Amino acid sequence: MTDLGRIMEKTHEWASKYANRKGFQLNPDEEMLDMVIEGLSRNKLEHGKQYCPCRLRTGDDKEDRRIICPCVYHKGEIENEGSCHCSLFFKV
Ligand code: SF4
Repeated sequence: MTDLGRIMEKTHEWASKYANRKGFQLNPDEEMLDMVIEGLSRNKLEHGKQYCPCRLRTGDDKEDRRIICPCVYHKGEIENEGSCHCSLFFKV
């Protein structure tokens, strides 16, 4: 398995556990879910952290910490819009 494949497995496992713990659910559309998991994993592989694949990094480490998944925005987005910006986590 490639490095990316391995990271994707771990990321998926983490996201499932996190969703369970917080009472969210993962995107039921497996293709979309896979795209987000891949984006997070690619950022982890290339930039060292699972930065949100749907937001722009500024290059400022402190600022960019806000968009390491789970980002600081996700709870509000899930509550108000039904899902986080990337459609990774959904309201049950
Ligand atoms: S928008 Fe969703 S996928 Fe992106 S960092 Fe926030 S919680 Fe993670």
